[in-house]
Parts: sequence; C-alpha cells; structure tokens
Amino acid sequence: MSNRTLTYAIPLWDVPSVPVVESGAAFPVRRIYCVGRNYAEHTREMGGDPTREAPFFFMKPADAIVPNGAKIPYPVKTKDVHHEIELVVAMKSGGVDIPVERALEHVFGYGVGIDLTRRDLQGEAKKAGKPWDMGKGFDRSAPCTALVPASKIGHPSKGAIWLKVNGQTKQSGDLAQMIWSVPEMISYLSGLVELKSGDLLYSGTPAGVGPVAKGDRIEGHVDGVGDLAISIV
Ligand code: MN
Repeated sequence: MSNRTLTYAIPLWDVPSVPVVESGAAFPVRRIYCVGRNYAEHTREMGGDPTREAPFFFMKPADAIVPNGAKIPYPVKTKDVHHEIELVVAMKSGGVDIPVERALEHVFGYGVGIDLTRRDLQGEAKKAGKPWDMGKGFDRSAPCTALVPASKIGHPSKGAIWLKVNGQTKQSGDLAQMIWSVPEMISYLSGLVELKSGDLLYSGTPAGVGPVAKGDRIEGHVDGVGDLAISIV
C-alpha cells in the first residue's frame, strides 16, 4: 500500500539514491544488504574457514550511501577504519525464495562499492557476541559508484576487482573467486527476507583489507562496471 497521500507529522527526508550511468535518473535505495566472507582468501585473513558454509548477511542503513568522488570525514569512535572493495548488485524487483536460475532477472545493474568498516568496533562486538551494526552500519559507510544497467553490460561473473590506497594496490582479486555467486546470494537471501526493488547487495570483498587514514585517496575498480574514488578527510 502506498503512503504517498499521507500527511506526515514531521518533514519527510529525501529517499537515498544512487545515480545511474548515462541517465538523468536515480536509483532509489530501499535497503543495503552485505554478505560476509565471500572470498576464500579474505575469509582466511579474518580467521575464518573458507569451506562453503551457508552465507551470512548484515545490513547498513540506506542513507549510509555516499556518492563517487565524496570526501568522507574519518568516522567517529574508531581508530581502525578498514576498506573492503565490493561489487554492488542493485535489484529492480524481488520476491521470496527466488530460484538461483531466475535470480538475475531481478537485477537492475551493478556498481562498485566500499564496505567501510570500523574494524575495532566489529572486533569487540565479535568477541562479546554482540551485534555488528555499529562496526558496519555507521554514517557514510557505503560509498558506491553510479550504477551500470545489466541491459548494457550483462551480469559480470568474472573480472578484476581491486582497490588502491594512495596509488598502492591493497586488494586485488577476481569476481570468479566468490564463494557464493551473485545468483546464489540473491536466492539464499530471498529465503530469509523478501527482496524488493531498490535493494542493494554488497557482495563481499577479496583479500587485502586494511586501514585507511585521514588524507588517504582510495580508488576501487571492477572490470566492466566502473571506478570509484573517495578521500578520507
Ligand atoms: Mn564486506
């Protein structure tokens, strides 16, 4: 049911959105889902076991989105912010229990994102068995490029994904190294929650995550999808 005719008691905020490449249109963001440990080498560097156990997910608020080119203030209450370069999947439709072989029909397009992480807060939460939210879902924690429609580039399942800090390569992998493919992730996640248009899925990061500092310029790339550049100020 639409709420568009409601009168709100307080002023309505802007719907978070991501631009679409070569289009005047914006993609409205409903929810941001992220998958954990989806590349074997990264799973090992985080102390995990990269056998194919069920994928697990966490979320960021929709308004954690930051546009390409942003200058991001060093996040508060942390001394250890990490970069995680990720392929971002944007949903144009959704559903419940989506079969793997139909999953890509629901994808609008793709972007290049960074899952910025307050690693110290995440680490403390892990140790204490507490939620990750404040380690992962903080303000401006989800930089993302403009989206490229799948109608233009298809559905990338292989190709380089890398991240540089001040020109130095820190993360370098290939989309083909994902433990759970994009269709498998969509299918699995849609069994846990109903996916809908406007949902973004950050699909995990290859090995080489590490800290960022004030003054750093961070560049990220996914073959055929785009280039992201942000600065920490
Ligand atoms: Mn991540």
